Amino acid sequence: MSIIADKLQQVNQNIEKACRRAGRETNSVSLVVVTKTATPEQIHQVVELGYTELGENRIQQLKPLATEIDEYLAAETPSLPKKVNWHMIGHLQRNKVKQVLPIIRLIHSVDTLRLAEEIADNSKKLDITTQVLLQVNCSQEHQKHGVPVGAAIHLAEQMCSMPNMKLLGLMTMAPFTEDLSEIRKAFVRAREIFEEIKKERFAGKDFQHLSMGMSSDYQIAIEEGSTILRIGSAIFN
Ligand SMILES: *Cc1c(COP(=O)(O)O)cnc(C)c1O
Repeated sequence: MSIIADKLQQVNQNIEKACRRAGRETNSVSLVVVTKTATPEQIHQVVELGYTELGENRIQQLKPLATEIDEYLAAETPSLPKKVNWHMIGHLQRNKVKQVLPIIRLIHSVDTLRLAEEIADNSKKLDITTQVLLQVNCSQEHQKHGVPVGAAIHLAEQMCSMPNMKLLGLMTMAPFTEDLSEIRKAFVRAREIFEEIKKERFAGKDFQHLSMGMSSDYQIAIEEGSTILRIGSAIFN
């Protein structure tokens, strides 16, 4: 087995174990493979193993990478999936929105009204509906990105009223700390806001995802209700 296949198997076993501990179905959690530290050859291996949800946080890399992978898939090798789906997981500047919209399946990192409006406006021009998550800053520390907890519900409501945009849930990043209780607290807070928004009903039935959990904390995230994991270094490093 290749090193990457081996690591993916390890990750999947950990996901299964965490789901069992939490009394959840394994298929209630999906995996976005974060490619920012991977070479194209490594990404080919992942795709060949059947993983089609890929995440990037570097705008400049996204387009060339997506083109490269499309060319790889165009050979129509029977063992390969037909296509992959790209997730924008990093900070998105408004002036980059136009170029990422045609490539992206889901934007995880919407955190201001202005960015949401830019996405909605450009989606309208392209006559598409863009799927997004609202990124919430759930850690006590002063992280740069993510809407503050106290403003999250209001922004979610504003986003739900925008045409050409569909709010599918929330995304959060745990604080950079070794303190597992702090990490868990951030995930719990994200889930509370998530439940609160669901209760308010303005988001409708599409609102069902919590994107949280990276290489160092995905098992805790699963225990606290994550539905989308974003994992890179545990697979590629
Ligand atoms: C890099 C990154 C990840 C993946 O982190 P790993 O520790 O490599 O698993 C997840 N989410 C975001 C927003 C990232 O930038």
